[in-house]
Amino acid sequence: MDTHDLVLYETRGPAAWVTMNRPRVGNAQNIRMTRALDAAFKRAVDDDGVHCIVLQGAGKHFSGGHDIGTPQRDIDKPFEKMATPWYDHADRPGAEGPYVREADAYLGMCRRWRSLPKPTIAAVHGACIAGGLMLAWCCDLIVASDDAFFADPVVKMGIPGVEFFAHPFVMRPRQAKEFLFLGERMPASEAHRIGMINRVVPRDALSDTVQAIAQRLGERPRFALALAKQAINQAEDRMGLRDVMDATYGLHHLAHAHNALTTGDGIANMDARKMKEGEETPS
Ligand code: ZN
Repeated sequence: MDTHDLVLYETRGPAAWVTMNRPRVGNAQNIRMTRALDAAFKRAVDDDGVHCIVLQGAGKHFSGGHDIGTPQRDIDKPFEKMATPWYDHADRPGAEGPYVREADAYLGMCRRWRSLPKPTIAAVHGACIAGGLMLAWCCDLIVASDDAFFADPVVKMGIPGVEFFAHPFVMRPRQAKEFLFLGERMPASEAHRIGMINRVVPRDALSDTVQAIAQRLGERPRFALALAKQAINQAEDRMGLRDVMDATYGLHHLAHAHNALTTGDGIANMDARKMKEGEETPS
């Protein structure tokens, strides 16, 4: 078991800084971490002194994605659903268990975090891969250091993209196809060029840049920030984001079920090591 806190929380002026804290495994997200993240965000929302929320990762990377192979992987354990009214997923046969679990812990949770009534800023350094992308994409602003890179390589495991399927909205459709088909790393500079992220700064300037933005947000009326955020999110949903995610969630689970039928495992027996084969390894 991890014996330390999986998520750290501190306030700096008007900002709550929430830090994923599994640095030895690239901040791979297990369900316990997801719960801890949700608790941290709720704490920040409930604190009247907090105007905005920063999400970052401890260690060398922002997040390498969902936990697909550490000893603390906990996907089959029962957990109380937090984002949706679904019943428990554990021990459900066939496609039901994964469908219910991911509807809550992955898609549901990211949608919930996207809807937090305070601005959120992802401070991204190092790897931001697959499930890591979902955390960055559900934030309002993304500031990256120049060593950061973004990738969704899950086609390698037979899956057509991560559950929070924002790809054709955070980049152009043809770019999204290349991003998914090849699964290659998109450097922060390219992510900035195509408008997927707000700023790129040197690694040692990342925290200060984000804190400076947070200070400016702290000078704005809180309710106006919440309304401005809602306005843009509603616009994205009317452009189709929510419908696309719902439709793609079905394809995503067709792929998990196909993997289970053909290989006996929903992610085709892939793990972090196999996913890295043939690629430059993030250290
Ligand atoms: Zn999935």
